[in-house]
Amino acid sequence: MLFQHTVKSLTRAVGVGLHSGLRVELTLRPAPPHTGIVFRRVDLPVPVVIPVNAAAVSDTRMATTITPGGRADGPRVLTIEHLMSACCGLGIDNLYIDITDEEVPILDGSAASFVYLLQSAGLQSQSALRRFLRIRQPVEVREGEGRSLKWARFEPKNGYSLRFEIDFGHPAVDATGQVYEFDFGSGRYTRDIARARTFGFTKDVEMLRSRGLALGASMNNAVVVDDYRVLNADGLRYDDEFVKHKILDAVGDLYVAGLPILGAYSAFRSGHGLNNQLLRAVLADEANFEIVTFDNPQTAPVGFGAPVPVW
Ligand SMILES: [Zn+2]
Repeated sequence: MLFQHTVKSLTRAVGVGLHSGLRVELTLRPAPPHTGIVFRRVDLPVPVVIPVNAAAVSDTRMATTITPGGRADGPRVLTIEHLMSACCGLGIDNLYIDITDEEVPILDGSAASFVYLLQSAGLQSQSALRRFLRIRQPVEVREGEGRSLKWARFEPKNGYSLRFEIDFGHPAVDATGQVYEFDFGSGRYTRDIARARTFGFTKDVEMLRSRGLALGASMNNAVVVDDYRVLNADGLRYDDEFVKHKILDAVGDLYVAGLPILGAYSAFRSGHGLNNQLLRAVLADEANFEIVTFDNPQTAPVGFGAPVPVW
């Protein structure tokens, strides 16, 4: 995918917000080259436009939230990460997303519904070359120590890979794969990552609901885990669905860079907040990155010189 892409035609989805529990409608529309991904709150008397970029991220406590210019107040859009992950996974550079409330619908809790929606709309190649953000030197962010240590880092790579390790100290989660590495060059995002659902613990639900969060959460849109086991009747979609969902989230969190990344991401117990800090740390120093294009498929990194296969 050396050229920028948008969708061929307009497409719609209706669902509820994971945290708000409110019904919301999304309309995805084609956008010209160099637009990026742009949300528009069309429910407001004067629609508010929020272009996605690292500085627009204003809150990362439960989900990735954006506001115009990253302001602490004012109109916002919550829980953008799964839709952003699908856009990155399919190589969509330019898209208008009209939304009728402040939270992106959770749909099935993974990125698979968004992938299906975008593929149904069809991908349209555009005349402008795709611009990549290439990592030039290692950048790392850390938080906590001992049992609360978390870190995330980027290193240079001629391609894009993500390695994630989880450590929840929970019997049902610990019984699954704790480490996974995904390489975008494999073209297997849709098959290996997109279907991994968000997950939550029953012990947290009461606390979250008392704070007005997780109001839309159910076993239809999340893997629900009690103190010992997964409660969903059908079990897991992947043996290692938890760590794969963390990679799905990281793909979305990092795509708020506004450009696809060339680099090797690795992380231990990271989340939306640390992923955003890593991105800001990269962008804070121009020695960390460069913007590149490829006009010859032969010189492009593996997996980026041709359309990503559809599984
Ligand atoms: Zn998620």
